[in-house]
Amino acid sequence: MKSRQISFSPPDITEEEIKEVAEAMRSGWITTGPRTKKLESQIADFCHTSKAVCLNSATAALELTLRVLGIGEGDEVITSAYTYTASASVIDHVGAKIVLVDTAKDSWEMDYDALEKAINEKTKAIIPVDLGGVPCDYDKIKAIVEAKKDLFQPNNKIQQAMGRIAITADAAHAFGASYKGQPIGAVADFTSFSFHAVKNFTTAEGGAVVWKDINGIDNEEIYHQYQLFSLHGQSKDALAKTKLGAWEYDIKGPWYKCNMTDIMAAIGLVQMKRYPEMLKRRKEIISKYNEAFKGMSIQTLMHYSEDHQSSGHLYLVRLLGLGEEERNAFITKMAEHGVATNVHYKPLPMHTAYKNLGFDIKNCPNAYKQYQNEVTLPLHTKLTDEDVDYIIENFKEVYQDVKA
Ligand SMILES: *Cc1c(COP(=O)(O)O)cnc(C)c1O
Repeated sequence: MKSRQISFSPPDITEEEIKEVAEAMRSGWITTGPRTKKLESQIADFCHTSKAVCLNSATAALELTLRVLGIGEGDEVITSAYTYTASASVIDHVGAKIVLVDTAKDSWEMDYDALEKAINEKTKAIIPVDLGGVPCDYDKIKAIVEAKKDLFQPNNKIQQAMGRIAITADAAHAFGASYKGQPIGAVADFTSFSFHAVKNFTTAEGGAVVWKDINGIDNEEIYHQYQLFSLHGQSKDALAKTKLGAWEYDIKGPWYKCNMTDIMAAIGLVQMKRYPEMLKRRKEIISKYNEAFKGMSIQTLMHYSEDHQSSGHLYLVRLLGLGEEERNAFITKMAEHGVATNVHYKPLPMHTAYKNLGFDIKNCPNAYKQYQNEVTLPLHTKLTDEDVDYIIENFKEVYQDVKA
């Protein structure tokens, strides 16, 4: 029965990445340095932005973005109930209030009417999530923050210059996606990417943030603020201190430590070269799945349309008509057939941490419905065509089996 063993999301690392990491290690510079700076410049080019900052995770990128915007105690930030904890936990980290919005009916995307209603004079940012690599409806979100401009009360210079709620996207899944012809990164005000080992593009651990130019704000100033926050508030990084006689530095604030190392960046520099091909392969696999599942009683994410191109990160499927227990039985059976699957996501109000913060899944009935019969199929660039055929065949068989 089990003729193959298919893992869910193994990293796609070639000899080329290994060689570049070895070269970084031999170079004498292993922490943040020339390779990190080079990767930042390539990411900014890729995203059509002026600058990029590489950090140790998307979580750090999201959190530091809230800090750059001066968001903290007394403020509110809105995100989706249907996401990974990092989209919301960072709001708590900075001392602001987490506001979770349910998904729209039969959708994995935030209910935009509910989003609009959740906005008040304390709201400082919205963190939309490009689930599975599919961009949110950014035009709609922009129209909402524009319509709520009068309520907005800025509390730092950048917020003042923006004059409205900031859109600080969690694009952990969406590096390489595009919305209405523009790369994700050039769409929201600030956009955070994850390069964690299971993501499309990896540096083992890692992340980056990019932002759109803000009228009246110097990009170098924003860049410098991220540098300070990510390196102890220290006025000079290790590379700057190597200049002759330049030992002295100042500590500008008692801040954080979440920089990217050149060893991580070495992996990223090679992934960058390979990434267009990797995105293409993901698209091929998605087309194969879509074609094979036509006419079945399922709901999937729409990865590609005239308006958007996904990064093809996750293949979410709803097994329509099934409940939580049957879905779990489906996952077990798939595992018995050698296919690892997953669930994205158990809505945040169902987790202990969010229950303890007072959230209740009863207030997110749509998110619960999306979750109860959701299963995510393997989608990665280590899959052969034969693997994909095997997954399809077993998917159909096990679904029939569980439904019966
Ligand atoms: C992976 C992930 C993150 C966190 O990324 P890290 O780089 O591990 O911090 C945030 N949001 C979503 C939706 C994710 O899937």
